[in-house]
Amino acid sequence: MPELPEVRTVAVFLNKKVANLSILNTECFFEKMIWRNEVNEFKKEVSNQKILRVLNYGKYLMFEFKDWMMISHLRMEGKWSVSPKEIDVYNKNHLRLQFELSNGEYLKYYDSRKFGTIEIWKKDDYLELSGMEKLGPEPLNSKPSFQYLKDKAAKSNSLIKAFILDQSVLCGIGNIYANEILFAANIHPERITKSLSDKEINKILKASNQILERAINLKGTSIHSYKSGDGEIGQFQNELKVHLRKDEECYECGSKIVKKQVAGRGTYFCKICQH
Ligand SMILES: [Zn+2]
Repeated sequence: MPELPEVRTVAVFLNKKVANLSILNTECFFEKMIWRNEVNEFKKEVSNQKILRVLNYGKYLMFEFKDWMMISHLRMEGKWSVSPKEIDVYNKNHLRLQFELSNGEYLKYYDSRKFGTIEIWKKDDYLELSGMEKLGPEPLNSKPSFQYLKDKAAKSNSLIKAFILDQSVLCGIGNIYANEILFAANIHPERITKSLSDKEINKILKASNQILERAINLKGTSIHSYKSGDGEIGQFQNELKVHLRKDEECYECGSKIVKKQVAGRGTYFCKICQH
């Protein structure tokens, strides 16, 4: 599932391709993906709207129009591309939605598993209605503050793995980066969050920032099927220290990386380095 770095990569790519273009025509081949309204209503709302920019907040990919905000949830396998009508960057059988743009190109959405959704809201109240206002800050650009995370952590009886996956605490971290962040911070994923020291909270903040920045620079992690908008493959998978490395040697201490279900997710860690 794409996390912040992968969605950011897609947003940057799409923004370059489609900002300031208008939508002339919309075709939807899988109506259930339109989350909130009827397909015809959706088509009417985006018709002739100019895409002002494409951006992301955490895992949320957003197309900003003059009056509307269209939010795309990629879920497991959703992929966007921009191409001429007759060219498909991904498998044509998985094409679910396409917009004809004012420069003659097509903005296309593919989804092999059909879990992805699209919703569109008035710009005035999309934060509230989409549930996005409940999201915590993205751990980038030295945000959030130490005090913010310390206050949240002090009240939490959750395991630290669950805590950093909680999108209302930090937005954009999924399983892969949670595993890597806890390794970088030398913290065992089953620690109770409120037991963390100030120093450890600082280490989590620093590791989140560094790992997400690095992953964005490498255009994300390509493990299952993720590709950026032009079909390019991200490279952060080459820098994973624990994720998917069960029984391999820890790069720091040489002991075997362990895999265990923690907070319902496949969690990889080093018993020696993380405590
Ligand atoms: Zn180790």
